[in-house]
Order: sequence, then C-alpha cells, then structure tokens
Amino acid sequence: MGTHPLLKVENVKKYFPVGRAVFGRSKQYVKAVDDVSFTIDVGGSLGIVGESGSGKTTLAKVILRLLEPTSGKVYLDGVDLFSLNNKELRKLRPKMQMIFQDPMASLNPRRKIMHIIGQVFKTHTSIGDVEIRERVVDLLEKVGLTPPELFLDRYPHELSGGQRQRVCIARAIALNPKLLIADEPVSALDVSVRGQIVKLLLEIYEKHIDEIAYIVISHDIALIKSLCKDTLVMYLGRVVEKGEVRRIIEEPLHPYSQMLISSIPVPDPEIARNRKRIPIGGEIPSLINPPKGCYFHPRCPYVMDRCREKTPSLINVDDRLVSCYLYSE
Ligand code: SF4
Repeated sequence: MGTHPLLKVENVKKYFPVGRAVFGRSKQYVKAVDDVSFTIDVGGSLGIVGESGSGKTTLAKVILRLLEPTSGKVYLDGVDLFSLNNKELRKLRPKMQMIFQDPMASLNPRRKIMHIIGQVFKTHTSIGDVEIRERVVDLLEKVGLTPPELFLDRYPHELSGGQRQRVCIARAIALNPKLLIADEPVSALDVSVRGQIVKLLLEIYEKHIDEIAYIVISHDIALIKSLCKDTLVMYLGRVVEKGEVRRIIEEPLHPYSQMLISSIPVPDPEIARNRKRIPIGGEIPSLINPPKGCYFHPRCPYVMDRCREKTPSLINVDDRLVSCYLYSE
C-alpha cells in the first residue's frame, strides 16, 4: 500500500444564504460546513460521524462538487477539484463515486439493472454492447447478485432493499474510483441485511486498497468502527475530534464524542461499567444563529466561561486532534 495523500481537503466551507440583507442587519448564512480540513492517504479509510445536521453529507457533496463550495480546496490525487470546469469535472466523475443512503431513490425506477449499470460504461468509455454486458455481469457477481443473468432484466422495484444497495455499489465501483464515499449505506436497510452490506463494503475496500480513498458517513460510530480506521467527529459543521476510531471509542476526549459513544449499546458489562456516560441531551442549536464560542457549550456538562466566548482550536492531544478547552492551557 502506498502512503501518499490521495485526498486533501483544505479549509472547506459551505455557507447557504438564508433570507436577504435588510437595513441594519447583514445577510444571514447557514454555516453547514465550517473550515474542515483532513487528508486521506492511498488505502486510507475515514469515517465522518455526527448527529443529523452536523454537516456530514454536505461536506461529502462539496468534496464531490455535487454542491459548489463557499471556499477552500480539495485535491484528488493532486488534481484541484474546485478549479475544474464542467467538462473536466464530467471526465473525472467516474473516479469519485458516492453510495447513497436510499438505494431506491438513487436508481431510475423505469430502467432495468442492465441499463442502469451499463449506462456508466456507455457514458464514460467507448466499449461496445457485448463487452458492456460482460462487465455488468462481472460486476453483479462481484457484489453478490448471483446468478447475474437473473438480475439483468429486472427493475429496481423487483429487488429487495439489500439487492438494490448492491446494484448501487456495483455502479459506484464500475470504473474503479479513486474516491468512494458511502453515505449512511445501511441505515435504510432491514437489520437482517445490514451485516451483509457492511461485509461487502469491507471486501470491496480491501480489494481496492492500493488505489482508493474511502469515506463512510454515519451517525453510528459503531458502524464507522467496522468499516474505517480513522474518524472525524463533526458537530454543527465543525470538526471537534479526529483520530483512530478504536481509540475514540475506547477513550473519547471531546464531550460531544463522549456523548455519541455513550449511545452505543455495550454487550460487555465490564466495559459498560468503566465507560464515562454522558446522556445525549439538549437541543442542537440553530445553524443560522449558532452560539458564540464553542458551539457545543449549551449542551456541555463541563462548560466554562471562556467556552462561551471563543471557539477552541483543534490541537494535538496524544494521538489525535481535539477542539476543547479541557485539553488546552
Ligand atoms: Fe465543553 Fe468548553 Fe470543551 Fe466546548 S470547549 S466541549 S463547552 S468544555
């Protein structure tokens, strides 16, 4: 496995304007993603975790330029994605793919599976129909839809939720992407098939480990742990902690991470006894008018005066980055 950075995200912001500037009051913005930076090496896997409204999905869409950024830079294998024009971006699209939460919504209900996956090759390659069919058959086998011939002529509504997500995964990996982002990939599925899809995602990641950067977005840090090595904890558009998932689960530093970890059911009573429990409480503040200072202060059991005044920077603490005055001078 190589170790050079494949994905570099630098100070990315995405602000959505809300309402108009009126006399005496400047224009307001929802700061959905506020100054996020990270790097993923070739073969690296990063989870992005947080409650809904934390900016996870918006960040992913900005990285892929499905949404235009407000500012910042993103480099994929050295290519500055935010400087590409539409034509250049279209050419690069197959190299950065996203698997969405709801497979039914991301598949055209009027097209058969052969067409849905085959279209990727039609749009981005010059190969002929016979070879396209062979590639689709091969992909269906890879994602466990066997025998493939049974699925080629079916419509999405004729498949189960798990089978539809397999089709989405097949389409996403069709042209060997360098960046694969899975956004809540199992949360719309029955509990009985979640484990199978997690296993498939893991197999695909391991198979392409020499060429891929992998991001998994979820509100569930236990899922992130089964799919990724590192994680980024987001709260109201900002990164509050970043490090190895295993370490963050064992010993979360930021009070918000502690809150998230508290919500994981623990089968082992010994671990449960040792775990610092912080109940998830309080309302998530408005993104239009977030609190001054540390955004988490209205919900934090350790809040101090200075937390209400100034945002803590992300600093190195042991083996990770954390943004909290409990760990700074
Ligand atoms: Fe809590 Fe203050 Fe740390 Fe924010 S900076 S998480 S309010 S202790």
